[in-house]
Amino acid sequence: MTDDEDPEEPFVGLADAINRVGKQIISSLSPREHFVPEDYVDYLLTPHWRDVRQRAIKRANGFCRKCRKPSRYLEVHHLTYHRIGAELESDVIAICRQCHDLEHLEQRRKKRL
Ligand SMILES: [Zn+2]
Ligand SMILES: [Zn+2]
Repeated sequence: MTDDEDPEEPFVGLADAINRVGKQIISSLSPREHFVPEDYVDYLLTPHWRDVRQRAIKRANGFCRKCRKPSRYLEVHHLTYHRIGAELESDVIAICRQCHDLEHLEQRRKKRL
């Protein structure tokens, strides 16, 4: 039993997620989307984001929205960064760690095409 992450605790794994995903997000942003990394890290700690995140996780109901596998720990991914701070429910999805990593790899690949 190595999976000791508690899905009830919103900040479990957050620092880790910021480290992994934050860097990927930054590299996937176009120069037009001018927000700086420090702002994004601060943003992830706001009550607003916690609320958006918790609702996305609740909607996923314990299943990754991408691969549909059950996952005790879901990460919330932005489908678009255009409404940061005022996201629509459809702007974010809760997905498992594996799918999240793939999503960001995919985004970076698309930027290079
Ligand atoms: Zn998945
Ligand atoms: Zn993401």
